[in-house]
Amino acid sequence: MLKSMVQSLWKNPGLRRFDGPLTELLQRQPVDGAGQIPVSLVPSEMIETVCGFCSTGCGLQVHRRGGQPVNITPARGYPVNLGMACPKGWEALAPLKAADRGVMPLLRTEKGGPRETLGWDEAVDVFVEKVRGLKERYGEESCAFIWTGQMPTEEIAMLGTVFKVGMGFVHGDSNTRQCMATTHVAYRESLGFDAPPFSYRDFEESDLLIFVGANPCIAHPILWQRVLMNRRNPWIVVIDPRRTETASAAQQHIAVNPRGDLGLLYGLAKAVIDAGGVCSEYVRDHTEGYEAFAEFLEDFTPERVAEACGVSAEVIRGLAERISRTERVSFWWTMGVNQGYEAVRTAQAIINLALMTGNMGRPGTGANSITGQCNAMGSRLFAMTGTLPAGRDFGSPADRGFTADWLGVDPARIPERKSLEYDRILEGVESGRIRGLWIIATNPAHSWIGRRALRELLGKLEFLVVQDLFADTETAELADLYLPAAGWGEKAGTFINSERRISYTAKVAEPPGGALPDFEIFRRIGLHWGGCPWLEAWTEPEAVFQALQEASKGKPCDHSGVQGYADLREQGGIQWPYPNGSHPGEGERRLFEDGRFFRENGRALFCFEAPAPNPEAVDAAYPLVLITGRGSSAEWHTGTRTSRSAVLRALSGMADRVEMHPEDARKRGLRSGQRVVVESRRGKMEGTLCEEVGVGRGRIFIPMHDGEVNRLTLAAFDPYSRQPSYKACAVEVRAAG
Ligand code: SF4
Repeated sequence: MLKSMVQSLWKNPGLRRFDGPLTELLQRQPVDGAGQIPVSLVPSEMIETVCGFCSTGCGLQVHRRGGQPVNITPARGYPVNLGMACPKGWEALAPLKAADRGVMPLLRTEKGGPRETLGWDEAVDVFVEKVRGLKERYGEESCAFIWTGQMPTEEIAMLGTVFKVGMGFVHGDSNTRQCMATTHVAYRESLGFDAPPFSYRDFEESDLLIFVGANPCIAHPILWQRVLMNRRNPWIVVIDPRRTETASAAQQHIAVNPRGDLGLLYGLAKAVIDAGGVCSEYVRDHTEGYEAFAEFLEDFTPERVAEACGVSAEVIRGLAERISRTERVSFWWTMGVNQGYEAVRTAQAIINLALMTGNMGRPGTGANSITGQCNAMGSRLFAMTGTLPAGRDFGSPADRGFTADWLGVDPARIPERKSLEYDRILEGVESGRIRGLWIIATNPAHSWIGRRALRELLGKLEFLVVQDLFADTETAELADLYLPAAGWGEKAGTFINSERRISYTAKVAEPPGGALPDFEIFRRIGLHWGGCPWLEAWTEPEAVFQALQEASKGKPCDHSGVQGYADLREQGGIQWPYPNGSHPGEGERRLFEDGRFFRENGRALFCFEAPAPNPEAVDAAYPLVLITGRGSSAEWHTGTRTSRSAVLRALSGMADRVEMHPEDARKRGLRSGQRVVVESRRGKMEGTLCEEVGVGRGRIFIPMHDGEVNRLTLAAFDPYSRQPSYKACAVEVRAAG
């Protein structure tokens, strides 16, 4: 009988793919006398979703019993992760179940006073009254928002339209400024649109993979698994100041000096020319500006750049030879490039290498930026920050007219200028131009560069609202009004991953207490404020998704051919572009196979500029360069969610470890395990010394997850993307106590 019950249960399509303990449970537990299945054996259901941490966008299966999520397994048939997940994915349910979730709004009526609980109607009243008061007193620039690339696109679009068009404010930016602003600007200028050209299959189809400032073993572990699935016997090169986990696993590690990458890439381009590696036909037919670039490179011979970048001319010429004679070369970059003071030009130097060698639009090629957060791309496309929806221009009357029609409002209500960037919003707080700030699902009091200054700044605000899962993050604790939000798994929507795949993220649990989905919070505020006619139709995430499909029509990110959420679930996500009339089964798709780019003339542009000096060079007082980065695959950003998992805490190791080369440690009389003080011109922190050859002489490394590390960092920014330069400030280390 038991066997037949298992067989009958197995006919349930949800159970067929169940990887959990049900079968084992059925075999162990008796069926009761009446032949009924005991409650403990109530069939589980499985809901497919995508992970809400990094931009890999892994498919996960959430197993539920009695309507409650009880387990997670990676989705075996999902085209991204093929049945794999990193520790964060396996533990994604932990923050949902945390006992200390925020469950009701909290209001602090006096600065420094206690917080009192209030109901949602009252909280929305307070929000609208305070913000309206600031607008009436100080104008349309008086309030701003800062949100995250962790929210579904539908919520991001809801926030942008409500705040900027409905409420009539100008400024709002995202923590994607900290990770992907550089890529956005670099692709837009070079290729005509913020369009990562690759699909993950390119990891498997490349003959030479060059990772610049990227450590996928730690930051994108499933993508590294895709690299390991490459059967072409590829040569893997890592350009990184540190011998990271990825560098250790690669065939070649090029230990460039911190921020020596731009000079190195120009030296490499010059050496490619010298090696005869330029694909003249591709350059002639599909690009613009090569002659000027080649002339510019005359000053960047490998011999001239060698000292500044810390890489010998011989190594540079050797890599150039390899690039020149390899059929399929792919270039990959992430935060080591993006978080620099000349990051856009560095990213474009990588794009230039791919263009000049014709490594675009073919299998296993590309200038490929790996995204950070799970929905940084949704944020880049639909937040109304740097562009109007789907990459339209604030400065274009036609684009503003389209947006006005799309929302059903007068064109005069569409802002004519883009938002101030994150750092300039904070400058606005400093100067008094911005009096109210609404921070959503991000924790800048921990993560923003130059943390001490930021905490002081937030204290200057007349009204600080923080909307998050927890009321005790470093930022939420400073809030005048705290709004409890639902997290990943407690709401539905879509994410867009690194390879442009739009995927459905499912609701698998109810939010605790009075916590609400951000979608619902934004909508309530918009309705209470008034003047948001589109909200009549934008009643649920899928309705917003349809509106975004409309907005995408005719743009490079056109996905008007998607037949609703059901289609996304059925196909395992769909990469844009997917215009009306597209058909399933077109598989993983890369861009630019026809050599036509998104610039008006269809040609990609070579962009370049001479390297600039580091804004803070080392000196006798601060002789070491501080590099920050991901510490382990078990940690995520400021730990708001991952710290709620005992498993991830156990896996993550010491967040405050200070990695230093043994010779540098010996010079200072330090040894592993000792408590040390790290000091920059801006502040100091304590940590535990960890002698590590791989960090290189003259450098130290501290994981970005440590709550104190941004006391040290220097608030320097790329001039084009305004992305903070987290990775190269000057410090000294001494024994603590
Ligand atoms: Fe996959 Fe990234 Fe989630 Fe890990 S964190 S399971 S790599 S999407």
